[in-house]
Amino acid sequence: MSPTETGQPPLPERISGLAAVATNLSWSWSRDARALFREVDEALWHLTRHNPIELLRRVDPARLAGCAQDPAFLKRYDALVEWNGFVAATHDTWFETSYPDLAPRVIAYFCAEFGLHASVPIYSGGLGVLAGDHCKSASDLGVPLVGVGLFYTKGYSDQRLRLDGWQEDAEERFDLAATPLEQVRGPHGDPCLATVRMFGRTVSIGAWRIMVGRVPIFLLDTDHEQNDPADRPLCHRLYAGGPDLRLRQEWILGVGGVRVLRALGYHPAAWHSNEGHAAFMLVERVRELVMGGTPFAEAVRQVRATSIFTTHTPVPAGHDTFSPDQVAQCAGPVWQEMGVNRDELFRLGHHPALDHDRFHMSVAAIRLSARVNAVSRRHAEESRRIWAPLWPGRAAEAVPIKYVTNGAHVATWMANSMVALLESHLGADWWQRVDDPAVWARLLKLDDVALWAVHNELKSHLMRSIREQARRRWADQWKEALHLVGAGTLLDNGALTIGFGRRFATYKRADLIFQDPDRLQRLLVNPWRPVQIVFAGKAHPGDEPGKQILQRVYAQTREARFEGRIAFIEDYDMHVAHSLVQGVDLWLNLPRAPLEASGTSGMKAALNAVPQLSTLDGWWAEGYDGRNGWAIPAATAATAGAEGDAADAERLYRLLEDEVVPLFYTRDARDVPLGWTETMKHALRAAGQHFTARRMLREYVTEHYVPAIRGQLPADDPPGA
Ligand SMILES: *Cc1c(COP(=O)(O)O)cnc(C)c1O
Repeated sequence: MSPTETGQPPLPERISGLAAVATNLSWSWSRDARALFREVDEALWHLTRHNPIELLRRVDPARLAGCAQDPAFLKRYDALVEWNGFVAATHDTWFETSYPDLAPRVIAYFCAEFGLHASVPIYSGGLGVLAGDHCKSASDLGVPLVGVGLFYTKGYSDQRLRLDGWQEDAEERFDLAATPLEQVRGPHGDPCLATVRMFGRTVSIGAWRIMVGRVPIFLLDTDHEQNDPADRPLCHRLYAGGPDLRLRQEWILGVGGVRVLRALGYHPAAWHSNEGHAAFMLVERVRELVMGGTPFAEAVRQVRATSIFTTHTPVPAGHDTFSPDQVAQCAGPVWQEMGVNRDELFRLGHHPALDHDRFHMSVAAIRLSARVNAVSRRHAEESRRIWAPLWPGRAAEAVPIKYVTNGAHVATWMANSMVALLESHLGADWWQRVDDPAVWARLLKLDDVALWAVHNELKSHLMRSIREQARRRWADQWKEALHLVGAGTLLDNGALTIGFGRRFATYKRADLIFQDPDRLQRLLVNPWRPVQIVFAGKAHPGDEPGKQILQRVYAQTREARFEGRIAFIEDYDMHVAHSLVQGVDLWLNLPRAPLEASGTSGMKAALNAVPQLSTLDGWWAEGYDGRNGWAIPAATAATAGAEGDAADAERLYRLLEDEVVPLFYTRDARDVPLGWTETMKHALRAAGQHFTARRMLREYVTEHYVPAIRGQLPADDPPGA
């Protein structure tokens, strides 16, 4: 293998276009692009965890020279370069065809994290991955979106478990040269594009651009020489540090984000805050309008008419709030530039029923966005209840909060072999017909043997990669053999494999299945019908209770009584998530209702025909149809808390014992579980028809973006004071 220290050797002229393909993330959802990079050097492709920039830097130059002379490789290369040009073009897209008059308008999309690919670690979990899938679908549909986020130069955090299962938060390796980020420069080559005032100092802000197909995302950073040393590391870490750092980051995102877009010449016609972290973007736009001569009330009206706010948090305490003094210290007397006094400004973030003396980011976002949506039907009901105090005198049902249920990006999450199977069954152009219900109805006639074969191949791939990771960790770091059991080396390719991968927040109840260890033991170590569980997930660095649950779960992986049938895969990220949702037999999701706003990992699993067993919460409350998996009815208020947990655990065991395990092990003469494959097909059909990011994007466009671009205010009254 060639040395890595020498940096990137020049690519042979004939295939030099690979560099351009590697630097637009659209490669990550193109099967052809991925296949071509794999072909360059398959082992290195796996070692770099599917990072083409890293691959091209490290691959043996002789191998590249060989590719440049291989007619079969060149044929595929030429097709790919042509496709890449097509992806960059903006004509003939769904958006342009549907709204020819609106195509040049831009929609700004603000989010504190973006989960685009494992090689760009600027996300922590569901919110970021959703934002990434949103941008990818916007690109597919030609929706003129521009993303704005923060560049966390030190990423999120790598997960390393101590021998006792305690999570240490290692600093993530983030090698800029191995990412497709490109520093944006101003007209005179200056990397600083805008400034904001913060705590009495001027802070210069630069931006890094990442291309997601047609969609650019600008990631802001403050690590510039002219900034005060205290301001330079503000954007280093995602969700690290206390409320003070959080406020500074959100000020940079909101205010800095608007100014950077202006500096780059953007004039967005609609503005979307994905979660409340970006609410200062709305405040800044009111300020801009007032500075330009618009009276405050009219400025608020105009900002409302052109803004969309998506809330993701179903608990009041989950929303960021700051003391008005803190905000005033950070922002300085901005109200003076807005034609109002301090109290009038802070009233925007005033919650009439909760924490009287706080500035609520989500409340400000609701007051300044005429279009507010939750992320599932169930979550909309909760959100109307939570935010009803903002519309005094109104019944919760009449609170104007709609919902756009989340979705997952099919080309990102569906395994290659599953895509190929659908092509052979539905025709190569099934991509173009995904909006036709007949396509999904036909899916139910998919050949069971073929589906089972594809699934089992994905399952062995998962098992192999689990063992491979264990092998590397064993060689690199571990001294203790017991770790190998916990890492999944004793897993069995034939056993019913349950996957549980998500953030270790307490409400997600990763430990619920351990409520009755004897019963669980009987379930897992049954010699005729064995069951195994693969866990993965990080706790938020500041979440001690989450880390304790993780530690308890980890301890179970080493319990001899479970005979190696419980494994924990370290460092859950998009790369691990891919192989898990594609390769397990059943996806398990146990949130304490109603705390799961939507959840998306179950959708990703279902897009690979992996059925879900979940509490009836989040998307499952509308996604479960009786045939595509299993549901634990949400505990009623009377059985909340520990009692509710016990009741949910009882239902979980019963479903597994009476329905899931028997169905999985009932085989025909060819050893195919026909009842199970039927469930798999229903899972895939429901997800493909209703829970894709494409469907989600189209709803955002028709119900929110287009009316906002047209400046239409909904008939609903704005919230009261
Ligand atoms: C999809 C995804 C999530 C979100 O999963 P939920 O089901 O919403 O909890 C979190 N992390 C990663 C890496 C993901 O891919």
